[in-house]
This record gives sequence, structure tokens and C-alpha cells, in this order.
Amino acid sequence: MKIPVLYYHKIDYPKKDAVFKGLYVTPRQFKRQLALLKFLGYETINPKEILSFIKGHKLSVKKPILITFDDGYENNYLNAYPILKSAGFTSMIFISSGFIGKKNAVSDERERVKENFLNKNEIKEMFKNGFFIGSHGINHFYLDRLEEGVMIGELIASKAYLENITGFAVEFFSYPFGAYNANVMRAVKNAGYTAAFTTVNGKIEVGDNSFELKRISINGYNNIFNFIFKILL
Ligand SMILES: [Zn+2]
Repeated sequence: MKIPVLYYHKIDYPKKDAVFKGLYVTPRQFKRQLALLKFLGYETINPKEILSFIKGHKLSVKKPILITFDDGYENNYLNAYPILKSAGFTSMIFISSGFIGKKNAVSDERERVKENFLNKNEIKEMFKNGFFIGSHGINHFYLDRLEEGVMIGELIASKAYLENITGFAVEFFSYPFGAYNANVMRAVKNAGYTAAFTTVNGKIEVGDNSFELKRISINGYNNIFNFIFKILL
């Protein structure tokens, strides 16, 4: 068995001037994707179960899946959260702590369209309802290009800031832009995280490195057939 971990960015209708339209999955597409997962018998798991799975322990769930979001857009709360809840699913949101409650553009330096980011109350509400919060750094920098001290600050301060909001330990990290190397991985571990997700395509397998977890990217160009193909493959 392998565990698929999906990653999304924005659940919304694409903004007219957006450069990266693929980052938007419409609420309608998202609803259809979740309905299909439910039909196929998938159940969302606690990300901690992934850690015991890679060590070789059996999972209680027959068809496990983890749904993740990167960056921490407010549309995750406004659009994705109600759809997930009504499907009986949870998800994990990787938040860039420096953008909380702000309007910003982070997907790339070339993206000019700004988005609203989750505020503290929205994060608290989702956390209380069984959703998981992970860190995506503070400023969404390429960690592999930063000076050591600045990189460590991104890892430690974002963790502390998010822990202060939820009142619980933040154990999971997702590398901004999927950028990492051996040095970044070591720093993430030393900062107190127990695992980190990449943007390398693939599923979780027994024996995987917990700081190099693979995911499956879902974008707005995937129709329902590409979607299910990516998960079943
Ligand atoms: Zn990101």
C-alpha cells in the first residue's frame, strides 16, 4: 500500500489578471473531486499516521489519503473548508506565518494578483474542528538560497507563531517552492519538526525519509479523469 498526499493552493475561481491560473481549483471542481474520493472509499488521515506508516506500522484505515494546502489562502477557509466538512474529510494547511491576516501575492515574484490570507480566528476555528496546521515558513522564501541564520529563523519563528495560535505543537513543514537540499532538511529537523513535505511527485511508501515526503499536485487544469488517474497510478 502507498498513501497519496494531495496538495492544492487556491480553491476559488481564477482571478482575471492572475498569471498562474493553474493554482486555482474551482469550488465546483473540488466538490466533484471529494465526491469521487468518497465514492472510492478514501478516508482522510491524521498526518501523524504517515510517520508510523513509513516506519512499517499498519494503518487502521484501508484507503488512506491526506489532503494538503500550501501558503494559507483565505479561500481555503471560505471555500474548501465547508466542502471538506460536508464530505466528512479533514485536511492539513501549510501556512506562511508572515502573511496571516494580510493581502499579498506569494506564488511567484511574477504573480501580481494579491490574495487574502487566513486570519488567526479562521485558523483557530479549523484547528478546533480537527484540521491540521503546518508551517510553510514566514515569508515564503527559497530556503536553499538563504543565509543559514535567516533560514533557521524562518523555521523556528514560523513554528512558534503558529503554535501560539493553536496552542499545540506544529510538527509538519512544507518547503516553500518545494526548494530544499540536505542542509535545509537538517535545519528543519533541528528546528524541532518531525516531518516535511516536498513537491516531488509520488506517494508515501514504507521506508521513506520523513523529511522528504512526496505529494501529488492537483491544479485547475486537471479534469476529473486526470485527477483520479494521478491518485490511482
Ligand atoms: Zn507555497
